[in-house]
Amino acid sequence: MVDFRRLEDVDVANKRVLVRVDFNVPCDDEGNVTDNTRLAAALPTINYLRKHKAKIILISHFGRPGGQRETSASMMKLIKPLSGLLKTNVAFAPDCIGKTADTAVAALQAGDVLLLENTRFHKGETHTRTGGKGYAPEFAAALAAHGEIFVHDAFSVAHRAQGSTSGIAANLPAYAGLAMERELDHLSQALDIPKRPVMGLVGGAKVSSKIDLLKNLVGRLDTLAIGGGMANTFLAALGHGVGASLCEHDLRDTALEIMDNAKKANCEILLPVDVVAAKEFKAGAQHRVCGQDDVRANEMILDAGPQTVNKLADAIDASKTLIWNGPLGAFEIVPFDTATVEAAKYAAKRVRNNGLIAVAGGGDTVSALKHAGAADGFTFISTAGGAFLEWMEGKALPGVEILKK
Ligand code: AMP
Repeated sequence: MVDFRRLEDVDVANKRVLVRVDFNVPCDDEGNVTDNTRLAAALPTINYLRKHKAKIILISHFGRPGGQRETSASMMKLIKPLSGLLKTNVAFAPDCIGKTADTAVAALQAGDVLLLENTRFHKGETHTRTGGKGYAPEFAAALAAHGEIFVHDAFSVAHRAQGSTSGIAANLPAYAGLAMERELDHLSQALDIPKRPVMGLVGGAKVSSKIDLLKNLVGRLDTLAIGGGMANTFLAALGHGVGASLCEHDLRDTALEIMDNAKKANCEILLPVDVVAAKEFKAGAQHRVCGQDDVRANEMILDAGPQTVNKLADAIDASKTLIWNGPLGAFEIVPFDTATVEAAKYAAKRVRNNGLIAVAGGGDTVSALKHAGAADGFTFISTAGGAFLEWMEGKALPGVEILKK
């Protein structure tokens, strides 16, 4: 269990509180926010701080301006939607350090909210002077000078040590914001102290991008179901023909090692027992269901078959906790979304009726579960991509380490 400092642990009244949010939201060409999920995610912390009479200073990165000013990457466009969501005027400073920022911070009254300009307009946010990874300490110190307390509320950047995260924490006491708390509590509940049996469902395109994740999971889970393109690599390693499927034949030994480790750790691995095969990778392509040994040389496995979905449902029934990352097939093209949709709906039903704890996140997982109409039925869906995956890999995340007691 991660034991970390929480926002509720500190008196924020009349204090300048520097809050790291993730306002890297999708926008159209005119700069209109097309999905305000990330703005909404920051509201509980901001409203808590307003209620407790803090002076609130919001900081975030946006896009990849690479240490230079770029009009299209300005945070200015977020003032209107953010003010609307908070039902109060949010002030703006056209730089995150220096005179304009200092003046705007000095003008704050208790309960006021100020948004500073993009931290990535400064090279010091992501690069040290030598060009290595990390941040410039003097940039971080200039940012930290705005506040008396630091609140980290952006789990999605917790896998990075940047000026506006670890850099500030090197100068100020750091606490988790309410969104960060929710992430850490749920993720901890799913993997560190899960109700057992605990099952993982990992799909997606390639084994190569998830080797560390699979290696970590087999040591922690009771059951690991592998799906999607990456299951082909495991099937091929076991001697099954996968035809023209996406398959990393060069990772045969890695796949065998993961299965061997699973056996030693008493983790049952579930692979597809039947598959949906097609000659073309396109929506509506002619397809057929066949056994794992009946794929023809000119066919690709694009989804798991119905028997496999039944086996997954049985495994979900036998589990108290489910951690899901990645689709079971090429879910963007119909009908190869079927196994993902069915399994996701089944998991959501078990959450509703049987108290299953189902946590999901990373990459395409959120869009796959939304596509299935099952996202709202999960216990918790992480909004983070890379940070969620690194957490599943068992890595220490710099943004979480700074919060530990
Ligand atoms: P990832 O980002 O690793 O989670 O992979 C997600 C991608 O894997 C999605 O775009 C899926 O279309 C793709 N995918 C899943 N299963 C297959 C498959 N059997 N063949 C090809 N692509 C697949």
